[in-house]
Amino acid sequence: MSEERIGNIRRRLAEEFERHRDEILLVAPFMVAAALGSVFDVFERFANFAEQHEKLELDELFTAMLGAGLAYFVLLIRQRRLLRQALHSRNAAEARADDLIQYDTLTGLASRTALLEAIRRAQDEANDGLLSVLLVDLDRFKPINDSYGHQGGDHVLQAVAQRLLAALPDGATAGRISGDEFACILPHPAGPEAAEAMAARIRTAVAKPIQLRGGMAEISASIGIRTAPGDSCSAEQLLHSAGFARYRAKRFPERGWCHFEAELDHEMRDRAQLEIDMRAGIHRGEFVPYFQPIVDLQTGAIAGFECLARWQHPRRGLIGPNDFIPIAEEAGMIQELAFALLDRACRAARRWPPHMTLSFNISPLQLNDRWLPQRVLRHLCSTGIAPARLIIEVTESRLFGDLPTAKTILESLKNAGVQIALDDFGTGYASLKHLRELRFDRVKIDRSFIGNLDEAENGEIVRAIFRLCRGLGLPTTAEGIETAETAAPLAALGCDYGQGYLYSRPVDAEGALQLAHSSGFAPAASAVAGEIRPPLREAGSAVA
Ligand code: C2E
Ligand code: CA
Ligand code: CA
Repeated sequence: MSEERIGNIRRRLAEEFERHRDEILLVAPFMVAAALGSVFDVFERFANFAEQHEKLELDELFTAMLGAGLAYFVLLIRQRRLLRQALHSRNAAEARADDLIQYDTLTGLASRTALLEAIRRAQDEANDGLLSVLLVDLDRFKPINDSYGHQGGDHVLQAVAQRLLAALPDGATAGRISGDEFACILPHPAGPEAAEAMAARIRTAVAKPIQLRGGMAEISASIGIRTAPGDSCSAEQLLHSAGFARYRAKRFPERGWCHFEAELDHEMRDRAQLEIDMRAGIHRGEFVPYFQPIVDLQTGAIAGFECLARWQHPRRGLIGPNDFIPIAEEAGMIQELAFALLDRACRAARRWPPHMTLSFNISPLQLNDRWLPQRVLRHLCSTGIAPARLIIEVTESRLFGDLPTAKTILESLKNAGVQIALDDFGTGYASLKHLRELRFDRVKIDRSFIGNLDEAENGEIVRAIFRLCRGLGLPTTAEGIETAETAAPLAALGCDYGQGYLYSRPVDAEGALQLAHSSGFAPAASAVAGEIRPPLREAGSAVA
């Protein structure tokens, strides 16, 4: 027999002994007692003694005791078995709970708890040396979940986790801390630059399209970086401040990462408070529509109004949309906010002459919601506004990422009679492809071109846009007309509508109602001669 086989037999015997150790230890004393009994003829002596003292019924007593002893023995073994099974299940449950605490079940990366533990360990090792924590937040993950379902979303998270792991250098740790947030620890970085290089690597890895059932998901990541000596603050604080920096990173989508700086702390607390106020403010009706007239440049008549959101903050006063729309978008409140506003705007528009249109801005993020057309139509229906009076303004943006979905949504709105305008044309990312594929009804030329029309280059661009739109049969609106000198050449170039402080600043619903029932403005052509009437500003209406 080979040594290997002998070794195997030994190992199996040892395993069997380990498995039945308790039973063996129980049986062994009996075996020893039986052996000793047979050596000293204990049974024979007992039999003789019992025979001689028949009256004591010792043999029956012995049989009864033996039976009871055997039954007890069997019971004992059974109990031990059950106990061992229970112990085994408890150990397995403990190990599983431990796994759950240590690992994220979906991606297999370290969990938040394990990650904090790893940060603490890295801090201990680093002492006053450096340590970097990177918080990686996926942009636009929610629309992917909405479009491809949770399975699609899970697949994206798993793919991102794999890419993170592949991008990390030796010694670094990656974990998932919640939904679409990941974090990486880079111990002993050569300096902040090492963390920046790693952030760039992670972003490149994440940006590669992910194949899903039903399409390709393209995703990007915003990364907050906190590099600090190991002994400077707690693990929670490190992670927290990397999270703050991540919000700042979202403002620089081209670079996509940002370091934590002390002043960020204050800014972020402020932002977090605004987010809380905003949730409450939507329910308290603090968000109100203001309206700016859109004027027919040839006749000076008011063709309609654009709804511009304002927040009547109880402590901070009137806040403009640039300060709260991005927060609403990031915090997932944009839909709720938009429909609260649309409702109020429609109720205001009901009091205008029926030919006047209501232009309403839609965030590009909302173009990922397949139910948007139904919701919009429901609001129109409940407020009694004909779909043909509504113009949805869509800002050109790289968030047109999911072009097919945006196209389906805009088509449904158009089929219901709603018009679609392309906002801020010339500033962003809308291409001729967008103009053709999304079949806009109108184009609004951004005010950055209008304000400086006399600059040769701007003039040339605006002329080119007019030519293009005329070719495509699209009416144009010029935004940001502040002076009569700007309005006249625009009208001469064939621009259809104009909007700007020359006519009126955005006013509240009362102000808009008065303007709507006024006789409008002088035609743009006569405006240069100084004939334009000053913007209407009635007592009691607020201007913003
Ligand atoms: P926008 O859609 O391009 O709106 C025009 C902006 O230009 C408004 O700023 C308006 O007050 C301003 N404006 C109008 N005429 C003039 C002018 O003659 N000169 C100058 N300098 N500015 C003029 P506002 O109200 O601060 O809105 C900023 C942006 O916020 C809007 O740009 C729009 O993109 C967004 N926004 C406003 N309301 C909403 C909303 O309800 N939902 C969404 N998603 N976005 C909104
Ligand atoms: Ca607009
Ligand atoms: Ca605009």
